Amino acid sequence: MKKIVIIRYCEIHLKGKNRGYFERMLGDNIRHALKDINHKYVKIPARYLIEEFADEDLDLILERLQKVSGIHSISSAIIVPSQKEEIFNTALSLCEGKSGTFKVETNRADKSFPIPSIELSRELGGVILDRFAKYLTVSIKNPDFVVNIDIRESGETLIYTDVIKCMGGMPVGSAGKGLLLLSGGIDSPVAGYMMAKRGMRLKALHFHSYPYTSEAAKEKVLDLARTISVYSGGIDVYVVSVTEIQEAIHENCSEEFMITMLRRFMMRIAERLANSISAQAIITGESLGQVASQTIESLTSSNSVVENIPVLRPLIAFDKLDIIAIAEKIGTFETSILPYEDCCTVFLPKFPVIKPKMEKVLKEESNLKVEELIERAMAAIEKYEL
Ligand code: ATP
Ligand code: MG
Repeated sequence: MKKIVIIRYCEIHLKGKNRGYFERMLGDNIRHALKDINHKYVKIPARYLIEEFADEDLDLILERLQKVSGIHSISSAIIVPSQKEEIFNTALSLCEGKSGTFKVETNRADKSFPIPSIELSRELGGVILDRFAKYLTVSIKNPDFVVNIDIRESGETLIYTDVIKCMGGMPVGSAGKGLLLLSGGIDSPVAGYMMAKRGMRLKALHFHSYPYTSEAAKEKVLDLARTISVYSGGIDVYVVSVTEIQEAIHENCSEEFMITMLRRFMMRIAERLANSISAQAIITGESLGQVASQTIESLTSSNSVVENIPVLRPLIAFDKLDIIAIAEKIGTFETSILPYEDCCTVFLPKFPVIKPKMEKVLKEESNLKVEELIERAMAAIEKYEL
């Protein structure tokens, strides 16, 4: 008897050549997630198995796998030689301490095993009922748990009762690379997580306005990036200072256009950086109507400076409470709500323009040396590899 972990992935979208690519990438990501834990990794049809680990590492393995995108569900299982007595004893030991309703489900891949699936399920169900009559009853339609018996062609049988639902999605690396605009707020880390879940590798870009914003604000953003990096298989964070740009806007443009102007600079810098690091999209945490800079008119203004790559806004239709629920689940919320200054709060106008008109935007912008300001900001870019 030994412990193993079963990993399942969703195959619905896997066709032809696509399948090998998906499986290889998921396999690489699983091995990366477990690289510091002793284990053996086995690929069987439509599943992966993690074997030969120390018992005390089981919980850590289960925790790590729940953060690998592309995995649909996992189970901690026991593997025994395919002999009836071994199978029954192990199944009984897994029912120990449980109560409620159950059923047995048998899958007999090894047709040389002498008992047909339905017969085995029925007999084992009876044995379990005899032993735990006080606590367990059978429900075929809606059981609280299922005793799964998987008789494999290898001569071994997998037995498990618990199925842990995981991230789902696609393996990171299977859907290109995106540049996440990462602030210290609640939304942008969630936006990054959601794109990693769809298979994007992530790079991040953070704007700060030192000395108006503190070193601590930057550290906070690096902390958030570290949390997301677990889901995205690493992340490089680029930091650009927009202090000079903000001062130039403050001196040369109408006050209410501060944020509108700044966001156009952010998007231009993002596209240039994306090009230079071969990222194929810009990702933001914007949500329609959440604040003045996220009305459709404001989005039009900031979107229109991006020339050649898509801007992905996975949260565009999300309510704040739904975003917070994801932030809590992925572990960024506690860090996000720490007090901090964001560059967008520097020179914050009392009455920001809510529906900027393009004509007016362009007129305000003509007061600035846009190209020069961008070049100087980008020359002082810093990079952190997490
Ligand atoms: P968040 O919670 O992500 O900070 P928010 O609700 O505060 O979002 P805004 O400040 O308007 O909204 O920012 C909208 C989006 O612009 C953010 O989700 C992020 O993608 C990007 N952004 C804002 N500030 C910065 C920054 N300092 N550095 C990088 N990106 C930023
Ligand atoms: Mg913000």
